[in-house]
Amino acid sequence: MNYLSTRGKTDPMSFMDAGLTGLAPDGGLLIPESLPDLSGDLDRLATLSYADLAFEVFSHFATDIPSEDLRGLVDRAYSTFRHPDTAPVVQVEDRYILELFHGPTLAFKDMAMQFLSQFFEYALEKRDQHLNILGSTSGDTGSAAIHGVRGKSRINIFMMHPKGRTSPVQALQMTSVLDANVYNLEIDGTFDDCQAIMKALFADVPFKEQYLLGAVNSVNWVRVMAQIVYYLYSGLKVMKDTGADQVQFSVPTGNFGNILAGYYAMKMGLPVSRFMLATNENDILARFFNTGIYESGSVAKTISPSMDIQVASNFERYLFALLDGDAARVREVMDTFAATGRVDLSDRLKHEAMKLFASASADTAKTLKAIKETNARADYLMDPHTAVGVVVGDELRNGDPLICLSTAHPAKFTDAIVDAIGEEPHHPVLDALKGAETRCEKLPADQEAVRDYLVQKLGG
Ligand SMILES: *Cc1c(COP(=O)(O)O)cnc(C)c1O
Repeated sequence: MNYLSTRGKTDPMSFMDAGLTGLAPDGGLLIPESLPDLSGDLDRLATLSYADLAFEVFSHFATDIPSEDLRGLVDRAYSTFRHPDTAPVVQVEDRYILELFHGPTLAFKDMAMQFLSQFFEYALEKRDQHLNILGSTSGDTGSAAIHGVRGKSRINIFMMHPKGRTSPVQALQMTSVLDANVYNLEIDGTFDDCQAIMKALFADVPFKEQYLLGAVNSVNWVRVMAQIVYYLYSGLKVMKDTGADQVQFSVPTGNFGNILAGYYAMKMGLPVSRFMLATNENDILARFFNTGIYESGSVAKTISPSMDIQVASNFERYLFALLDGDAARVREVMDTFAATGRVDLSDRLKHEAMKLFASASADTAKTLKAIKETNARADYLMDPHTAVGVVVGDELRNGDPLICLSTAHPAKFTDAIVDAIGEEPHHPVLDALKGAETRCEKLPADQEAVRDYLVQKLGG
């Protein structure tokens, strides 16, 4: 299987190259040249364990990794999960909740990051290369990446987080990892400052090449691919248990990476009647799916911080599909958006998306109310991201079985849970972190300071 850029100006590349490259050299996102058709095999796939299903799905995409090797990567990636089903589906009242938070950092980013880090280690070994990951995080991505690559040879990770702006638990999940290849950088500034520093250092191509800098952000194809599995896994399970011939999903959305994987699962043959795209007050995507106009605003801080984004980095892959694979049009649209902050795609959207995608946003009051009421009625405690998906799912659902994606464990978001139910949530993994030894470098929000730090640690 070869990978192409959504902007059409990059030569086709292999899976290993696509995974190591991240963003395509022409600025686009990498996509497989075709999607496998699994529609004739769904009954058998419905009987597989999570790891077996992941292995089968990945086999179609990672055609340059020998089967035995791929099997090993999959087994190691998913052996770190605390639940025997990896991603269990539980019934809560009249809907199904797909729990994606049983990995090391208790958020759904682990579903992909655990596999991505196995892949990195493998590909670097094969090619006798090293990689220095530079990232910036407002919370979940950073800790999932750190826990993925901790202790791996050939990889160092430098993760910036804004001082005092992640939740205390999220900061501790990162800074308590003491492996020698992990460097936490607390930046005296905002998340945007961290992003700007990262972009500036990546834009300095000689520096990036000399210091072998790489990224782990959600545009990496390997992450999207890994997320396809749990849509198939939960969808087939629920269809089998209920006898329904299709399902629908509600997905709390930020960068569009999660729901995009569901869209690919559908294109590969999973019968899905509707995707509900749920946002918090940061509703650029909800506005797009309701009006066809993609227009950024300013980011508002909410109780579901992992969805506090305005420009969804994975949206370009969906755009490519919406524009029938016309890379020249994708370039035009992305250029217009970069120049003006607005594009109107209402003509295109009418034919497919308005039927398949339904979208709404849930504000803080509705989200807290859903957490409180579901806890009282069903004795099930949801994190605020999950609750946004449940509110919107209940609002926009049709008659098919509804699967709501649960993207984090509630104990990661103590303040919101206390506001909702008046009690502190707990998880043994997080309780064990209290008082843990930590390591973290404090740096000013200045790209020269971060650059000097990298040079000093990496030598040369
Ligand atoms: C990252 C994240 C999301 C948003 O996922 P996207 O792929 O960016 O749409 C939702 N909930 C939680 C808890 C997350 O960490």
